[in-house]
Amino acid sequence: DDTISKIAAGEVVERPASVVKELIENSIDAGSKNIYVEIQDGGISYIKITDDGSGIDYDDVEIAFLRHATSKISSDEDLFNIRTLGFRGEALASICAVSKVELITRTKENDLGVFIRVEGGEIIEKKECGAPLGTTIIVRDLFYNTPARLKFLKSPGREGTIITEIIQNLAFSNSSISFKYKNGDKLIFATKGDDNLKNTMLSIYGKQVNDNLLEVNYDDGSVSINGYIGNNALAKNSRNYQSLFVNNRYVKNKTINAAIENAFRTFTTGDKFPMYVLHINVEPSIIDVNVHPTKAEIKFQNEQEMYKIVFDSIKKAFSTTKT
Ligand code: ADP
Ligand code: MG
Repeated sequence: DDTISKIAAGEVVERPASVVKELIENSIDAGSKNIYVEIQDGGISYIKITDDGSGIDYDDVEIAFLRHATSKISSDEDLFNIRTLGFRGEALASICAVSKVELITRTKENDLGVFIRVEGGEIIEKKECGAPLGTTIIVRDLFYNTPARLKFLKSPGREGTIITEIIQNLAFSNSSISFKYKNGDKLIFATKGDDNLKNTMLSIYGKQVNDNLLEVNYDDGSVSINGYIGNNALAKNSRNYQSLFVNNRYVKNKTINAAIENAFRTFTTGDKFPMYVLHINVEPSIIDVNVHPTKAEIKFQNEQEMYKIVFDSIKKAFSTTKT
């Protein structure tokens, strides 16, 4: 079907960060409240994700590793109205094909869990075992059997940074989930999962950004915009620390970014590149569906109108706080 072929065009596993993203999205889909990520060597030698979600039944484990084993989505339109994040049914299969995977999982219906070990797509071992509720997956030696791809990777330090950004953005779009993230021996951050975006930002960026943050809160009935914006306390003259979400999906859009930065400069003498986490919610139908669903770039049918709405939302944030 056309949806499948469109999606299949995108590579699922490009680098360690894509593994982390797909696995965390699976944990989110499974209803987890706590997700713990550990990596070593920028995720190249080791990625471990532990969740407390639904788990997988003994009989469904192999199915989960098969390509297109998903029941989560079925049409193009759904791609932009995603309730469950997974929509390809090939992430686990793709990851297993290029790494050594161990998975331990248990559902609440079962007293015993299941352990499965897969190398290069081959199931090496499967057995029942004691396990906490939820799923733990360990991905070792990514691209061990595809040296050309391994060579394409950046340094472990750089790959680790890309992973950090991915987890941050997943935390910003899932404030009700507690994320804990360790890189080597170092705890990078732990969020509370208290459904409070500002607290999530403070857990990730540090309490020093607190005084900077101005709340954005706008709703005109068809578009709502929520989040925080402020001087970039962490990196002057850099567009790091800017995260935009549309319908809870992390996206990039130059027009919207320009609206945010221009408004910020219009109403403050502050930084050229503010830090922000903003969530825009719109009718899925006003998003241009011709943009590839797996890419972060997004287009609105009327970009100029969206520019104005976003600009006004930030103007409103400033006028509200001045009183
Ligand atoms: P998709 O997420 O697109 O369905 P994946 O290949 O990512 O495809 O996952 C395949 C299936 O494995 C999922 O549909 C789900 O049933 C199961 N699964 C994967 N990870 C988890 C997890 N952490 N918790 C529960 N089920 C999972
Ligand atoms: Mg998935």
